[in-house]
Amino acid sequence: MQLTKTDIKLMAQELEFDACGIARVDRIDDEAASRYAQWVSSGKNGCMQWAASNNEVRENPELLLEGARSVIVVAMNYYPQVFQSPEAPQFAYYAYGRDYHEVIKKRLWEMARIIEQETGAKSRACVDSAPLRERYWAQRAGIGFLGLNNQLITSGKGSYFFLGVLLTTLELEPDEPCDETCMQCGACERACPSGALHCGEPVDARRCLSCLTIEHKGVLPEWVGDVIGNRVYGCDECQKCCPHNSNAVGNTIAELQPSPEFLALTHEDILQMTQEQFSHVFSHSAVKRAKLAGLQRNAKLIHNA
Ligand code: SF4
Ligand code: SF4
Repeated sequence: MQLTKTDIKLMAQELEFDACGIARVDRIDDEAASRYAQWVSSGKNGCMQWAASNNEVRENPELLLEGARSVIVVAMNYYPQVFQSPEAPQFAYYAYGRDYHEVIKKRLWEMARIIEQETGAKSRACVDSAPLRERYWAQRAGIGFLGLNNQLITSGKGSYFFLGVLLTTLELEPDEPCDETCMQCGACERACPSGALHCGEPVDARRCLSCLTIEHKGVLPEWVGDVIGNRVYGCDECQKCCPHNSNAVGNTIAELQPSPEFLALTHEDILQMTQEQFSHVFSHSAVKRAKLAGLQRNAKLIHNA
């Protein structure tokens, strides 16, 4: 049996994705490649050292899956229905529920299973887990466009979306790339607490609180204490202010709902948390990435501010 683009999109809907688009596998275009190379050579990738390696693969998805013909890109809303109290140490919205790697991959594996069963085609699921330009492919697959805040803005829906990619050897009719642009209002640049955004340039990860509070290992630069505010894990300021997010609606995915323990967390809880408690509260959470030491380092900085 052959599967069509329509079949894939229906499957994506059944798997609770909010958007799905298809691009043909190709090398990424020269402009995107050179923009990325400049970002890395200027050192703006900061502590994301992984961004500087595997460039050949990053530019050519066929190296991730032999015989790959199509890039299926999916998006899932993660905007919360319920929020932490404003007094609580703030976590980025994407980290409220279960780790998105698990949530998205599980569904992409199911899509891959059905594709193989119906057509024999092989697939590979990538969710921030392979050197792949996910936002670039989302634009190519017609899902959305890149805002000046460096976020992929899903057309008509905003930027609070996880992205996932299924590379597949199945030949599918590609969608038209998205040719929209963001409103270019500059609100994200003005809202950034640490000056990490400049005139539509790729984010300066050395100054981005999201990168610093999550990815950075060891002691943080002293200036971070002046701008960290109440953010203990990540930062959403450049999304909260974006007019494309003004109609964001809470997600209905069961796994993405925050637990009562998470919503009740206070500064003191984090400062006094044991490894056992951390493992309990964050056992299936993306917060594991910062580890208990990283979370407590950030919480101390908030405390001393
Ligand atoms: S805040 Fe304004 S400039 Fe920034 S991404 Fe949104 S629309 Fe674009
Ligand atoms: S996540 Fe926060 S610190 Fe990073 S660019 Fe956006 S507003 Fe600035």
